[in-house]
Amino acid sequence: MPTVLEIINLSNDYLKNKGIDSPRINAELLLAKVLNCKRLDLYLSFDRPLVESELTLYRAFIKRRSKNEPLQYIVGSVEFYGLEFVVNSSVLIPRQETEILVESIITANNDRGNLKILDIGTGSGIIAICLAKYLNQAQVFALDSSADALKVAKGNAIVNGVEENINFIRQDINIDGINFVNDIDIVVSNPPYISNEEYSKLQPELRMYEPRIALTDDSDGFSFFKTISQKASKLLKNHGKIYFEVSQGQYQQVEEILKLENFININIYKDYLNIERVVYGELN
Ligand code: GLN
Repeated sequence: MPTVLEIINLSNDYLKNKGIDSPRINAELLLAKVLNCKRLDLYLSFDRPLVESELTLYRAFIKRRSKNEPLQYIVGSVEFYGLEFVVNSSVLIPRQETEILVESIITANNDRGNLKILDIGTGSGIIAICLAKYLNQAQVFALDSSADALKVAKGNAIVNGVEENINFIRQDINIDGINFVNDIDIVVSNPPYISNEEYSKLQPELRMYEPRIALTDDSDGFSFFKTISQKASKLLKNHGKIYFEVSQGQYQQVEEILKLENFININIYKDYLNIERVVYGELN
């Protein structure tokens, strides 16, 4: 049987030949998953031979990764904002940029209690769950059109101990039939904002494995911002707040969309790469 170091080297070469970025890190993280240890622990057991069952599982993982399946779906979980989230192909993989959205809401509102928050397109539930966890007594309504995504989100809420504070509702973007008129303090969304045209140019990991409906609006990328802004202007309380995550270069247009719907005090938050990532507005 090959040792830990030997199998990492072999898999590194294999993934590299298949054109996978960062092949060694991928090989190590997948092996750590198989051996149920941390990546750095592998360095302490380079000479340990694998047993048959470990090798079989590891080969299957490497094969999947070589076909561009994202590492996160194979490993089955992701860390986001210091919490652990289960992911599968029914939900978008959490992105680091989305921490900016969560952070900006928590920072600006953590001195308020009992907030009613609406998360539109909750996916794996990362936004709803972080807000329920870190905002005092917040009551969160988390919407998604996909029953499979809601299953993942509910599981994540339970694991993170906030299932009591979140109502998961199967509902598409039109939010018709939901009666929150002038009752919500904060609307938040990281909607599918990739345009039809950009979608076709995405790397295979995204196009082949992540849910299309979570990524693109099949239009110009702005349709969800428009619909959500319109709906939010009716659902929010006076001076209620809205927070959107946007794609690079979308912020000015989203700002205009918000102004049209009577939002003021627009603010922009930048991400780790200095890209305008979050657009904020307050209902006039
Ligand atoms: N709210 C989830 C996230 O931020 C899912 C977003 C989506 O599916 N567009 O990752």
